[in-house]
Amino acid sequence: MDWRCAKGACRLRTLVLMAVVVLGVSSGGCGDGARRQHAVDAALKAASAALVAGDAAAWYFALPTEGASAALVVRQVNVGLARYTWTRVHAKAVPVDGKPGRYTVRFYGQLAHADTSPLVCECVLDFGWRDGRLKVVADRTDQWARDAYYLAFTDPVVLVRPHLVVVGDDWQRPLMARIAAADGQVRRVIRRLQLAPDSPGLGRKTLIYVCASRLQAFEASHAFIDKHMVAGERDGQIFAVDVWPAYWKRYASDIVRHELTHVYAGKFGDGKHYVGLLVEGLAVAVEGGYDFGPLRTEVARGNRILPLKKGLMHGRVWWDGLSDHRTYLAYLEGGALVKYIWKRWGLKSVWAFAAAVSAGDATPVGIERATGRTLGITWGQFYKGWKGYVRTLR
Ligand SMILES: [Zn+2]
Repeated sequence: MDWRCAKGACRLRTLVLMAVVVLGVSSGGCGDGARRQHAVDAALKAASAALVAGDAAAWYFALPTEGASAALVVRQVNVGLARYTWTRVHAKAVPVDGKPGRYTVRFYGQLAHADTSPLVCECVLDFGWRDGRLKVVADRTDQWARDAYYLAFTDPVVLVRPHLVVVGDDWQRPLMARIAAADGQVRRVIRRLQLAPDSPGLGRKTLIYVCASRLQAFEASHAFIDKHMVAGERDGQIFAVDVWPAYWKRYASDIVRHELTHVYAGKFGDGKHYVGLLVEGLAVAVEGGYDFGPLRTEVARGNRILPLKKGLMHGRVWWDGLSDHRTYLAYLEGGALVKYIWKRWGLKSVWAFAAAVSAGDATPVGIERATGRTLGITWGQFYKGWKGYVRTLR
């Protein structure tokens, strides 16, 4: 696709939409909720088109303001999002209950050469009619949202690879390049998971964000980032935190492979009961390269620190952060569990077991039933077999 041609087409659309906004408001006057919603939607549509066209004048024309806070937020969003090159942007305005004229505005954007449109910016704005025009009259955005999502990056660069799109700030280029180099790992993950390359969703590029700090990662993802975390997956996107450079240098492709497993496994075992042991176990099994020594020791001593059934019942795998020995054991136990089922019954049974356990009620009986139903043996037989398998792992 010729990028300049696409931009030219969008600019034309911007002008058409601006005309719609002006005509709509001038004929409407002080409208009710539905009329205001219509005008807000039209204004945001024009503003979104202006972002794609890289046309700042069209953006400010689409979103006229009154008052300092309104002018500031409209400018901040434009400056923040204009740093990227967009193929498509759209916005949704959701009315805030009990506050006529107030909307939660979410912009969703598709970067050039990417193929998904994640949430890129969120703000809360008051709209009102002034001089016959709809204007942004106040900024009600919460503090946390001011630098959230794509506004978390101040000097963004985007690296595009066949399977990955890596977003980060300019000063993160060394780690971004290291992560982008792991692009080929995608095929390996897909092969390991035995997913057909033409399955829906597998063809799309995975977005990876490289953040300079945990604070920036929190802002970019608006998710909990543990103090020990170096990377995490959320909604099919991966957030990498540039801490422990030596660790990243050595394990970048392993970490990417682990997180990509989460992306491709999707709702793996995501039933009534979240089974972190299996979710992480699958990622550990695909990632490979783990030293199972600590788990062999745990099993040899009677599996008392984290009994396998308790691990499956517990749901999450983190106790007091990654430094907690039980957390480390949970990753290894999950890995050994998935590898054992995979080796003896096949990958399909891994998925079936995860679905059955997560559909249950996280009780010992529920786990015993899931084992019998999907693997055809009792929990006692299974546990004995698993312990024997752990002793063979290196
Ligand atoms: Zn994981």
